[in-house]
Amino acid sequence: MLLSITNRSPSATDLGHLLHKHPARCHAVELAFGKGTVFYPAATESECTAVLLVEVDPIALVRSAGAKQGGWALGQYVNDRPYAASSFLSVAIARAYGTALNGRCTKRPELVDQPLDLEVVLPVVPAGDGEILKRLFEPLGYAVETSRIPLDPAFPTWGESRYHRLVLRAKTPLHLLLKHLFVLIGALDRAKHYWVGADEIDKLLAKGEGWLASHPEKDWIVRRYLKHQVRLAREALERLAPEPEVSDEEGDEATDTGTEPAVERKLSLHEQRLDRVAELITGYQPASVLDLGCGEGKLLRRLLHQTKIPKLTGMDVSSRVLEIAHERLERLPPFKRQGRVDIFLGSLVYRDSRLRGYDVAALVEVIEHLDTDRLDSLEEVVFADAAPQRVIVTTPNREYNVLFEGMKPGSLRHADHRFEWTRSEFQAWAERVATQHGYAVEFEALGEEHTEHGPPSQMAIFNRNA
Ligand code: SAH
Repeated sequence: MLLSITNRSPSATDLGHLLHKHPARCHAVELAFGKGTVFYPAATESECTAVLLVEVDPIALVRSAGAKQGGWALGQYVNDRPYAASSFLSVAIARAYGTALNGRCTKRPELVDQPLDLEVVLPVVPAGDGEILKRLFEPLGYAVETSRIPLDPAFPTWGESRYHRLVLRAKTPLHLLLKHLFVLIGALDRAKHYWVGADEIDKLLAKGEGWLASHPEKDWIVRRYLKHQVRLAREALERLAPEPEVSDEEGDEATDTGTEPAVERKLSLHEQRLDRVAELITGYQPASVLDLGCGEGKLLRRLLHQTKIPKLTGMDVSSRVLEIAHERLERLPPFKRQGRVDIFLGSLVYRDSRLRGYDVAALVEVIEHLDTDRLDSLEEVVFADAAPQRVIVTTPNREYNVLFEGMKPGSLRHADHRFEWTRSEFQAWAERVATQHGYAVEFEALGEEHTEHGPPSQMAIFNRNA
């Protein structure tokens, strides 16, 4: 099984830096199911090719648990595992090129995001009639060339096999190309050699960040990658796009209440919340603001209207709400936008260098959309890695729910909420986070306070210690 990657950008041998493999040497890669080798058949300033050769040991495979091939006696020995691109190749990519795959290059960090003139050759890819290869790679910007391999060249009447030689060309950063290959080769392979467990979802989402959610074949990729395990696939698809209810109404802020839970609407609590957060932020006179889980961009639009803050950035995990945000921002007159605003797709549970260097971050009604066991990742991403000077977090106060008409006892305000906290639960969380990450924290009530049940919503304002 072979994967060859050619760089034809100037200083082509930079490929060696990015892959952490010196072009002059041959590199052995330890694999549980066989042996990997990386070598460079060509390494000049104008063209540099790195080849990853993976030799799968079919006997070792039979011995190792979980390697079931076919339902016939020799199926475990006679199969396509040794030569066809499969999830073994995905694993080998992660082993041999792990640092590059994760977008790191300590010696030459400036190379990581640089688009390179790259060509990939995969000599044997299982892909039926081959149509799927175009559907998978073309939306990602690749020029796709495929040729179908005959079943046996000596017996043309036997017809064609389901295997294809695949050549991909694109100008793209290497880490992105490796992520595409890792996920899509894994999805093309029907028989995953290891047990597909829940942590596969994390792997898939990490490697798919920034491109998978908007891929037209997203459903197919996720299902196949997770080997048709319906429950896992459903969870992964939900996490790719939690799809909060979005209003169809256009523009008008007053009626624009889609991401707001229906039970809160009478109070227009969400408007009050956003007004207060915008007011606080304005008071800080920051140079840059990050709206995390920005949804349809309501806070961003307020800040564009009300302030002259030069850099306003929104991030959300749902491409659907971002499209709406984009449309609504586009409708503002250019003098309001003046290149001050940017939105992008991303998830709060993965470290993201694009989130660093901001003065203020806001998470308005976002944390309750994450499973509680993902909150520690969020804390790490927001408070340790992005680490803005100030962080504003708002979330519902569960104690207040008894006062909402028509709400069943014990239910939550919105179908996508994973939890809702009491005041003391929220404060305990926020105080622990503040202490752990070097912030001071203050609390504020949002909405009209009830003597016993408190306010409908609550806010924590974190200020990084000097
Ligand atoms: N802050 C906005 C939207 C709140 S709704 C407002 O106040 O109007 C919650 C938003 O969080 C949704 O748009 C949802 O897509 C987003 N979200 C949920 N999980 C996320 C995650 N892991 N990373 C980033 N955004 C997320």
